Amino acid sequence: MNFGDWEQNRYFRQILLMGVGEEGQRKLAQAKVLVIGTGGLGSPVLYYLAAAGVGTIGIVDNDHVDITNLQRQFLHWEKDLSRLKTESAVEKLRAFNSTLQYIPYTNRLTEDNVETLIGEYQLVIAAVDNRETREILNRACYRIGIPWIDGGIREYTGTVTVFLPPKGPCYECIYGTHAVRPKGPIPLLGALPGVIGSIEAMEGIKLILSIGIPMAGRVLTYNAWTGRFDEFIPSQDPGCPICGMKG
Ligand SMILES: [Zn+2]
Repeated sequence: MNFGDWEQNRYFRQILLMGVGEEGQRKLAQAKVLVIGTGGLGSPVLYYLAAAGVGTIGIVDNDHVDITNLQRQFLHWEKDLSRLKTESAVEKLRAFNSTLQYIPYTNRLTEDNVETLIGEYQLVIAAVDNRETREILNRACYRIGIPWIDGGIREYTGTVTVFLPPKGPCYECIYGTHAVRPKGPIPLLGALPGVIGSIEAMEGIKLILSIGIPMAGRVLTYNAWTGRFDEFIPSQDPGCPICGMKG
């Protein structure tokens, strides 16, 4: 694939970068990434994937735009209230970068549809607000062998991790399945998912390009209250039914 002047100019600043170049730009153009969620995390994830020229972007969300979303979900505007989020998201992304393919899936991710949804993609980025969806994704990505990236936000704290099956630790090793599942809306400021979603997009782009050191086997934490980043190294559960050694 050869790039015309439009692409050369559009992506000029990243084509200049060590680790990208024209070859990297071609990898991005041929990449297929599935993003689960178009909310506070999904907004920066989707905009930055589209900005970088990721050729095919699948978008999963079954929700409608609500007034309480606008404080952080900047893919959706006042005029979009009550619209399907997938429709609103695809409209903005097409206007932003018209050269890419956007595939909306107006479904909730479930155990029944997860393999069909993720099977077409080389990478999954989770931009969701609940553990159930992450657990379904974790199991399916380890079954099929697709890398996935998780971002989490709560009050003044955010986390990011990259999972590279079959290598553990996986999501279940880190968080277990019996932890407390908070109910009700999570309090937060919109800039927090902005930070965390941007890191998820960056990690995704690195994986597509096979550059840098992926944030796998460690959990990055961002404390917005103190303005500090930190990380911890989670251990793999050797008996983990998802990524552990069998038998
Ligand atoms: Zn595991």
